[in-house]
Amino acid sequence: MSETMDTCIFCRIAAGTIPSTIVHSDGEFVAFRDIDAKAPIHVLVIPRRHIDSVNALQGNDAGMIGRMVLAAKGIASAEGIADPGYRLVLNTGPDGGQSVGHLHLHLLGGRGMGWPPG
Ligand code: AMP
Repeated sequence: MSETMDTCIFCRIAAGTIPSTIVHSDGEFVAFRDIDAKAPIHVLVIPRRHIDSVNALQGNDAGMIGRMVLAAKGIASAEGIADPGYRLVLNTGPDGGQSVGHLHLHLLGGRGMGWPPG
C-alpha cells in the first residue's frame, strides 16, 4: 500500500495540488470533506506526513494520534455535532475497508449511526 508523495492522493490534497473542501488546516493536519459523504457531516482528518495506515504507526506516533483525535473533536464542535455525538473511524487494510493508503480519521455525524458497522 506504500505510495510516494507524488502518487498519494491525500498527500496531494494536503499539498493543495488536488482541490478539496478544507475545514481545518495546521502545521500537522489537514481536514477536508469526504468527496463521497456517508453522513451529513463526513470529514477526513489526515496527517500532512505520509503514513500508510494504523499498521505503520510507531511508538513515537502516539502524540500525533492523540492530537489527530483532538483535532477531530474540535472539528466536530465547529460543525455543531459535539452534543448529539459522532463517530471516529480508522479503517485499516482491506478487511478494515481502507481504500486510500494514507492514514485518515473519518469524522461522521449529523445522523444516528448504526451498530454493528457493515
Ligand atoms: P477509506 O475507504 O477508509 O480508505 O476512506 C477513504 C475515503 O476517501 C472515502 O470515504 C472516499 O470517499 C474519500 N476520498 C477519496 N478521494 C477523495 C477526494 N479526492 N476528496 C475527498 N475525499 C476523497
